[in-house]
Amino acid sequence: MTWVPSRDRVIDGPVRVTTAMACVSFAGWAALAASADLGVTRTNTWVLWVLAGVAIVLALAAATAPSTFEGRGAVAFVVVADVAIAVGLSAVSDETLSIVGCSLFMFVGAFAALLVGRAAILAHVAISSACLVVVAAAAHPGGRTTILLSLATWLALGVPVAVRALWRDLRPRAQLAFTDPLTGAANRAGLERNFVSLRALAHRRGLAVAVVIADIDRFKSVNDVHGHAIGDAVIGEAARILFHHFGAGATVARHGGEEFTVLVAGHPGDLRYRVASLPTATQGEQGPQVTMSVGAAWCRVDVESTDCLWRAVGTADAAMYEAKAHGGNSCVSRL
Ligand code: GH3
Ligand code: MG
Ligand code: MG
Repeated sequence: MTWVPSRDRVIDGPVRVTTAMACVSFAGWAALAASADLGVTRTNTWVLWVLAGVAIVLALAAATAPSTFEGRGAVAFVVVADVAIAVGLSAVSDETLSIVGCSLFMFVGAFAALLVGRAAILAHVAISSACLVVVAAAAHPGGRTTILLSLATWLALGVPVAVRALWRDLRPRAQLAFTDPLTGAANRAGLERNFVSLRALAHRRGLAVAVVIADIDRFKSVNDVHGHAIGDAVIGEAARILFHHFGAGATVARHGGEEFTVLVAGHPGDLRYRVASLPTATQGEQGPQVTMSVGAAWCRVDVESTDCLWRAVGTADAAMYEAKAHGGNSCVSRL
């Protein structure tokens, strides 16, 4: 069975812009150094032009294919960017230009704070600190130089730390906007958001995406007979069954009372088996035992809008109602 890993560190909106900005800023810096006659040797001029060219290509990639910069791509980007800045710094001899170049580590650090693990962040801090020390050691002491060096150090090391701290603080709150508080499943916004990244991943790996709808049968009577609190507990148990069965790579969403939508990527045969083996009855852990009606359909992964998601939800919903019409506690799969 192929499982798609949980996608936490995705590039969207501001991170995409920051990544492109980082590349453009570096390209501008390298081009300025290469074109200005600031003690750069002829060979070093070529090195700087090549670095500027590579940075422009990376900026275009960040703008048009941001998912390339996720996962291992993110670590690769941090390494390439740090090495490029270090090589660029070694190619220029102008003091001010070197100090300004060091501040470019700020962008890489901010990117690393959001998208890579602790080891890669520490490696980045080590490289940027080493470069700052080398540049500071070669600089001529003086008021202006000291101010510039302090500023570059603050930007290169302070900004990423601030970004990381802010991210850690805001992320759980931002997550709430995409989550159903009762079950911890995604809400409608979370479903759409996860769909976009799951579709990109499925497209890259040549996987299929299945949409599964599971609706609790005759749930209203649970509320009527046992009360709303027990009804909530029953909804929670149904959600846990779906989480457990489809695994961490799947998205389980609740966006219709006692109805769930699951998005899962994998090989078609594996997905057919996984859907067919879904338990359609709860154990009755904290309330009465209930059954579910389940419908499943394929979702196209080669369409750019989220329309295909809602079309697939419609097909899976119709299949679910077919199962309900046959008495519930069953699955009708269109996979
Ligand atoms: P069917 O077998 O056709 O699916 O019938 P049903 O009773 O399961 O579905 P129906 O749509 O008639 O009723 C759903 C009920 O779910 C009505 C609503 O009060 C209840 N409900 C919706 N959201 C929640 C919730 O968050 N907690 C609880 N306890 N009940 C909820
Ligand atoms: Mg129902
Ligand atoms: Mg319903």
